[in-house]
Amino acid sequence: MTKTCDAIIIGTGQAGPFLAQRLAGAGMKVAIVERNLFGGTCVNTGCVPTKTMVASAYAAHMVRRAAEFGVVGDGSVSVDMKRVKARKDAVSGQSRTGVEKWLRSMTNCTVYQGHARFESSNTVSVGAERLTADRIFINVGGRAVAPQVPGIDGVPYLTNSSIMDVDSVPRHLIIIGGGYIALEFAQMYRRFGSGVTIIGRAPRLARQEDEDVSTAIREILEHEGISVRLNATCIGFSKRGGEIVAQVECASGDREVSGSHLLLAVGRRPNTDDLGLTNAGVAVDKRGYIAVDDRLQTSVPGIWALGDCNGKGAFTHTAFNDAEIVGANLLDNDPRKVSDRITAYALYIDPPLGRVGLTEEEVRKSGRRALIGRRPMTKVGRAVEKGETQGFMKIMVDAQSREILGAAILGTGGDEAIHSILDVMYAKAPYTLIQRATHIHPTVSELIPTMLGELQPLERAEK
Ligand SMILES: Cc1cc2nc3c(=O)[nH]c(=O)nc-3n(C[C@H](O)[C@H](O)[C@H](O)COP(=O)(O)OP(=O)(O)OC[C@H]3O[C@@H](n4cnc5c(N)ncnc54)[C@H](O)[C@@H]3O)c2cc1C
Repeated sequence: MTKTCDAIIIGTGQAGPFLAQRLAGAGMKVAIVERNLFGGTCVNTGCVPTKTMVASAYAAHMVRRAAEFGVVGDGSVSVDMKRVKARKDAVSGQSRTGVEKWLRSMTNCTVYQGHARFESSNTVSVGAERLTADRIFINVGGRAVAPQVPGIDGVPYLTNSSIMDVDSVPRHLIIIGGGYIALEFAQMYRRFGSGVTIIGRAPRLARQEDEDVSTAIREILEHEGISVRLNATCIGFSKRGGEIVAQVECASGDREVSGSHLLLAVGRRPNTDDLGLTNAGVAVDKRGYIAVDDRLQTSVPGIWALGDCNGKGAFTHTAFNDAEIVGANLLDNDPRKVSDRITAYALYIDPPLGRVGLTEEEVRKSGRRALIGRRPMTKVGRAVEKGETQGFMKIMVDAQSREILGAAILGTGGDEAIHSILDVMYAKAPYTLIQRATHIHPTVSELIPTMLGELQPLERAEK
């Protein structure tokens, strides 16, 4: 028998549940389907558990540094990974059960557990059940990919999901990849006590960032004893004794890296290959991301795609914003769109990187007349007081309109302080607005006006 509803939502990640609440609240009969863990990646294997573990790693780091602050102990630190994991599981579990309870108690909303698959453009099967609706919302997220390298199937490897089950400190963790996920795990495990080697194919870490940011990140990690191998391609994996060996092709350095554990952090792919999208006629791009317009409508009217699976963002806040955009267009007669969104994200190494808008490189390439301000964290009082002076901040503004084009704060509190810049960018106000605000002392944010008072012309890229 086919059940008819007003809306079907596939996936309970960062867009689905909020959208369910909006649609059900407007009186629609909503069906929401989840095949695995409620809350999706962020809650179970992404943001929430990693940031919980980053907090444990920070605690270990500060205990090691205690004497610098005049705090006396015996200086030894040992990390009980079972307790780290238990803390992480508790925080993550609370979030997961919160999402499930919320959905199950939602008026007008029915939860279905199982794998959803399109049978046609308005019908979805979940096991033996068939659901039909004129509006279907896809929020299926993505998963880690494993590189097709000889020997990969012959060695045990971890991904961001399976590493969540590790309850001992790896003796030596090899990490393949130099992006955000790789870097967060690298520093956290180093602080737990593991030896860590990062093997990255690109010439620098976090390669989307400006070179000065990448260099500073590398220095921060190497300072803690993490070995970084760049311009290196893994050409094979094997086992030797109890060790995992990565064979590396590179211009310099050892041709082999061996370790006790291997983490693959080389990228993600959308969960769209097993969704029956062809039965519905929904178009995807070459990499499997669902093609959407500026209001997240797919190639088929009545079907929308939200979150990581549409390739328009890879963050929890972008997935959530997708739900806001769809809800506003459908229910509020408010034409919100994806292109209104300003790029913003953080990298949660310590100190963190907060980023908004264009990079310096992108501003140069745009050819516009721009100004740039920079300040090292050694010249930020709050950072000095906390003994956390690594990193720097910089901001780029348009010389003519005086609007802010982009900024990076790699430094203590950078993930929070960046928001005053982001909000002014959303307001489309000139940077002088920040200069005229009286910021609280002592904070990282109080130096943003100072930095803006020292702007210099930015050289344009040669054409
Ligand atoms: C290690 C790591 C750390 C991260 N840290 C951050 C961070 O600090 N900040 C940040 O903003 N982002 C972070 N992210 C990214 C963030 O987790 C994702 O961008 C976010 O979870 C995307 O949400 P989503 O709703 O698109 O999909 P997901 O959260 O992946 O949810 C999709 C859901 O759909 C379900 N599903 C899939 N297919 C089907 C089907 N056919 N039928 C039924 N259900 C299905 C899945 O089981 C899943 O529950 C991190 C990611 C990783 C991997």
